[in-house]
Amino acid sequence: MSDAIETHQTEIRHFAPSPEFAARAIVSDSSLHDAGDADFESFWAGQARDLLHWDTEWSKVLDWDPPNAKWFVDGKLNVTYNCIDRHVESGHGSQVAFFWEGEPGDERAITYSQLLEDVSRCANALKELGVERGDRVAIYMGMVPELTVAMLACARIGAAHSVVFGGFSSDSLRGRINDAEAKIVITCDGAWRRGAVVALKDIVDEALLDTPSIEKCIVLKRTDHGNEMTEGRDIWWHDLVDRQSAECPPEPMDAEQLLFILYTSGTTAKPKGIMHTTGGYLTGVASTFRSIFDIHPDEDVYWCTADCGWVTGHSYIVYGPLANRSTSVLYEGTPDHPDKDRFWAIVEKYGVTILYTAPTAIRTFMKWGVEYPGAHDLTSLRLLGSVGEPINPEAWIWYHDVIGGGKTPIVDTWWQTETGAVMISPLPGLTTLKPGSATFAMPGIGVDVVGDDGRHVGIPGGGYLVLTKPWPSMLRGVWGDPERFQETYWSRFPGLYFAGDGARYDDDGYIWLLGRVDDVMLVSGHNISTAEVESALVDHHAVAEAAVVGVHDPTTGQAISAFVVLKNDHEPSKALEKELRIHVGNLIGAIARPKSILFTDDLPKTRSGKIMRRLLRNVADDETLGDTTTLADPGVVARIKDRFLSVDSEDDEVDDLEENQK
Ligand code: ATP
Ligand code: MG
Repeated sequence: MSDAIETHQTEIRHFAPSPEFAARAIVSDSSLHDAGDADFESFWAGQARDLLHWDTEWSKVLDWDPPNAKWFVDGKLNVTYNCIDRHVESGHGSQVAFFWEGEPGDERAITYSQLLEDVSRCANALKELGVERGDRVAIYMGMVPELTVAMLACARIGAAHSVVFGGFSSDSLRGRINDAEAKIVITCDGAWRRGAVVALKDIVDEALLDTPSIEKCIVLKRTDHGNEMTEGRDIWWHDLVDRQSAECPPEPMDAEQLLFILYTSGTTAKPKGIMHTTGGYLTGVASTFRSIFDIHPDEDVYWCTADCGWVTGHSYIVYGPLANRSTSVLYEGTPDHPDKDRFWAIVEKYGVTILYTAPTAIRTFMKWGVEYPGAHDLTSLRLLGSVGEPINPEAWIWYHDVIGGGKTPIVDTWWQTETGAVMISPLPGLTTLKPGSATFAMPGIGVDVVGDDGRHVGIPGGGYLVLTKPWPSMLRGVWGDPERFQETYWSRFPGLYFAGDGARYDDDGYIWLLGRVDDVMLVSGHNISTAEVESALVDHHAVAEAAVVGVHDPTTGQAISAFVVLKNDHEPSKALEKELRIHVGNLIGAIARPKSILFTDDLPKTRSGKIMRRLLRNVADDETLGDTTTLADPGVVARIKDRFLSVDSEDDEVDDLEENQK
């Protein structure tokens, strides 16, 4: 990318917090932001002290030797004491930590007291198997309560967990186990997915054919799927864990003790094993969860629909909510089982007040139609959240109006596996929202948009998103690969963390995420962001989802190639293709008009639901595909490739008179 990304602004509505919301909000004035701006180290020290229990206070808040940070040096604390024990000790043992909803309709309510017993038993079981502080434990399970129990049990004894999403193949699992040299793997016999059993244990068996570090495999019975147990290696959870003592004292851990390794979702490249430690991470997630989700622990029922296999599940299903003594919903299955209204049935059943989901899910719900949410009472909702990709304004408005009944604020939270906690987000009682903008840096976080020279681009202006100050939940490295850590994040701009995303400031200094810089398209010398062209396409009433990529073009350098999924009641046609090109031209300008549009029934996505544009680029450029191991449905690319090659590249230029030239 040679210049700052060119940006385009269409007219948008603003949403100020309602007086009723602001009156009850945890944050409704600028004092947190002011404190963070004044001195970020003291700000974070204050958060750590106010929100967490420390067995030993730190001697130094931050030891910063770029790119290596140590936060709360010499401080000691136990993550699970902070997430569970202290709530029980303060008289909240009977409060529900998780309302668990199984996909087949079974349910469990797990109180903080119960969670303490379960975690202690599991921690004792791990100790019995010889797991020690610093060891790695791989977890490969469906979304059952025992998944959170297993994570917390590791944290209790200072073992690092490496959760691998239960949809990954045996190869992906094996790669992650071997990379982390995990000693133990914890799994389930099977997991429910759309009414069918995914035979997790069979996949584990396959993976374990070549994993020299693994000593034991603990298997939770979930689906009664007949399993072969390997003598000497495999143990049933109920045989091992249930007989353990329900007492396991929480040992104080060093603030910099490795808490977990988590592999990135692989949207842009081969997954990286991101390392997070104890004190800074918990401070970051506890603080951001409280202020962004405005959590009132005695009243709210919070639901994050992510899977614990992703960082969102780590930070905002397990650690952030529990540190704040929240009551959460945990759901095992898919949104369309038994029908496409499952999410809304769950919101109604548990009286969910705060819902946190992803744009890919929201666009899918839009495609399915309003009748599904319309069939349920969603009036309990008071706050909505979005994470994972840029949320286009069209989807934002739909989410706000259809799900939120036109009254709920939406927090669009930008962050990464690497950042551990949210870096950019509105605070719902304070920030005036603009649909599609993640708004501003969180208190204590330094965010900027810079040009090629690493300097602030000015307002308005577009370029690269960077983080300018260290933060407590920052990654401590890439497991086993210090060079990749340095190279990927700290080499592009000296002294700045390079996030890999493009962003822009609008006239008011609001931050808009523009997608990956690797995906930015260079058309006739203009940098055009994927997010803006995709938003323009989705803005058309017939379009449910869109992905655009720049492909090699002899005249313009790159040309925009669009892949479009239509809403249920629309059919592909030449006329519609033309209409869409005009639509994009009208919204952004002629330069952003896709040269080709391919209608498809699906887009290649990672298992976490993110569009993998690099694969589409490879299809369009007819190149080999590269790493596809994190793809949700490997068949999609092949289908798109077939369609792509059979469409002839006829040039039907849109009449220049039909559009606004820019
Ligand atoms: P890999 O690093 O392996 O390519 P990944 O980046 O998709 O995988 P994650 O850490 O899960 O893995 O995703 C972080 C990325 O998701 C961000 O860099 C950004 O591109 C995108 N993202 C997350 N939240 C938002 C948001 N609210 N708005 C825009 N983009 C977002
Ligand atoms: Mg990434």
